[in-house]
Amino acid sequence: MPEVPLADGFEWALHPFGPALRCGPLHGLARHCFTTRAPALGRGPSDASAGWLAVAGAMGLAPDRLLRLRQVHGTAVVALHRVDGVPAADLDWSTGDILVSDRDDVALCVRVADCVPILLADRASGVVAAVHAGWRGTAAGAAAAAVESLASAYGVRPRNLVAAIGPSIGPCCYRVGAEVRDEFEAAGRWHGELDRWFSAEPSSPALCGIPGRDPADSGLRAPLFLDTWAANADQLRLAGVPPAHVHASRLCTSCYREVFHSHRVDGDRAGRMAGVIRKRPGPEGREPASGIGTSRFGGRRRG
Ligand SMILES: [Zn+2]
Repeated sequence: MPEVPLADGFEWALHPFGPALRCGPLHGLARHCFTTRAPALGRGPSDASAGWLAVAGAMGLAPDRLLRLRQVHGTAVVALHRVDGVPAADLDWSTGDILVSDRDDVALCVRVADCVPILLADRASGVVAAVHAGWRGTAAGAAAAAVESLASAYGVRPRNLVAAIGPSIGPCCYRVGAEVRDEFEAAGRWHGELDRWFSAEPSSPALCGIPGRDPADSGLRAPLFLDTWAANADQLRLAGVPPAHVHASRLCTSCYREVFHSHRVDGDRAGRMAGVIRKRPGPEGREPASGIGTSRFGGRRRG
C-alpha cells in the first residue's frame, strides 16, 4: 500500500486496479472509494476507458451504471431519483458539480486532480451525494449546496449525514493570488472564515518538495495559501453536519505526487482520480419531497 499518513478513519482498500482510499465511518453507510493514480480514467463520454470499467467493478456495477459529470466549478446539482426510473446513462456526463441519488443501482462519480472530492451519505435513509469542489466551487459553497439538495429532495436531516473529504491539494502547496480571496469575499464569505482559510504561509512547507512558483514570476498579487479542507469542513458544519461526522483525509495531491494526480504538478497532462459512492441496498430512500422531483430540478437536474 502507498506510504502516506492515514488519519481520521481513512484506510486503504485493495481493488483489482490497485489500492484506493476509503473512509471507515462512511464505509458502513455506503460503498465508496477515492482512487489514486490507478486506474487511468477517461476524460469524457467518448472515452470509455478500461479505468471506468474498473471503477464500476469496484462498486459492483456495470459501467453503464456510473454517473459522471461535465464539471464546471459551480454548484449545480444533478439528481437521479428512484421514482423517476431514468436510466443512469441518460444523465451520465450531465453538466454540474454535485450528484445526489437515492438509488442503489448507480454509482456517483466526481473527477479530481487537486480539486476536493467530497462524498456524503445519510445514516437514516442511505441516500448519497458526491461533490466536486475546486476553489471556485468552494467559494460558491458547493458542499453546503449538496447538503441543502439532500434535505430538499429526500428530507435528509443534515445531522444524520456523514462526510468524507478526499485527497486534494493542501494548504502546504495551494498557493493562490489575493484575487482568489477577493472572490471568496465577493461570494459572501465573512472575514472570520477568510482568515481561517487563507494564510500568508504554507501550513507545512517542509512536507512538499515543490518550491512554490516565485510570486514575481507567477504574477500573483500577495500570494496566499488556501486551505480547501478547512473551508469545506467548515461549510459542511455550518450546513448542519456534526463536526464528528466530517472526516478529512488531509492528503495533499501535490506532496504525494507519486500516489495521486496533481494538476499543479503535472499541468494539463495530469490524469484524473475518482471519488465514487454507491448507496447500499436496504431501506429505500424517501420519496422526493412534493414538487421537488420534477419542477425544481426541471426533470432531474437543477441548474
Ligand atoms: Zn502539499
